[in-house]
Amino acid sequence: MKLFIAFLLYFSLSLFVYASAADIKTIHVKDNLYVLISPHGGNVTVSVGEDGTFLIDDQLADRSEIIQAAAKEINKQDIKFILNTHYHFDHSGNNEFFGEKNAIIVAHDNVRQRLSTRQFITYFKREMLPMAKVGLPTVTFADNMTLHYNNDDIRFIHTPAAHTDGDVVAHFTQSNVIVGGDLLFNGFYPFIDTEHGGSIKGLIAGVDVMLNIAQADTIIIPGHGGIMNKIELQAYRYMLATITAKIEALINAGKTLEQVISEQPTAEFDEKLGGGLISPDTFVSVIYNNLTM
Ligand SMILES: [Zn+2]
Repeated sequence: MKLFIAFLLYFSLSLFVYASAADIKTIHVKDNLYVLISPHGGNVTVSVGEDGTFLIDDQLADRSEIIQAAAKEINKQDIKFILNTHYHFDHSGNNEFFGEKNAIIVAHDNVRQRLSTRQFITYFKREMLPMAKVGLPTVTFADNMTLHYNNDDIRFIHTPAAHTDGDVVAHFTQSNVIVGGDLLFNGFYPFIDTEHGGSIKGLIAGVDVMLNIAQADTIIIPGHGGIMNKIELQAYRYMLATITAKIEALINAGKTLEQVISEQPTAEFDEKLGGGLISPDTFVSVIYNNLTM
């Protein structure tokens, strides 16, 4: 009987590990920092230590147990703090779940505003209903704030009108790690939510904020995709600026969107970055429409 129970336990445990390991990869970034990476939903940065677990972003709503289990596998402590890097459902989807467990949620002023009201993201045909009070950020700020936590001084820096109107970049000053949220998509073209205050110029300015504080050995965690270094961040900035400059020149020459697309201003980057959610033509359309708004 004992053996049978042990077998059952082993079987269910291995199933459990399999279920969370199947699409969530837990990567040790540095010191007490980890990142949960999955093809479904945004990256979740996990800071563990004596003060309790701190998450940056909390993923999709239907994956609460998986995220909680992955975080608790790193450290059993309760999740005490959460930063939402922006309002999108794949980064704030478990605010209510963790809020009910007394996590304190921090975000930019505009994130609380957006999560309090109905949002519709046309590109994803996705409706976000107003969040229950328990899921709303209780601490908000307009520009910057610092969290002194788990033996680090973590600077939250608002980057205006970038991926959305409420983006925050987090800088772990002691560990020398930057969390860029959805200002950074590693391996494919980024989505820019121009319908909710994002802009290509603001996105580039936000990347510059990160480049200014990054050193050669700084580790950079994007909103989607694997971790990056400063050289990769520079290459990403170069890509954004090059494509934008080409599109701007074509707009100034009086070209229509169709003509600009046919000129293929993204061509030199398509092989590396064109296979993601945002196709080259979509990326060009977003930038064109944003620059001619
Ligand atoms: Zn996003």
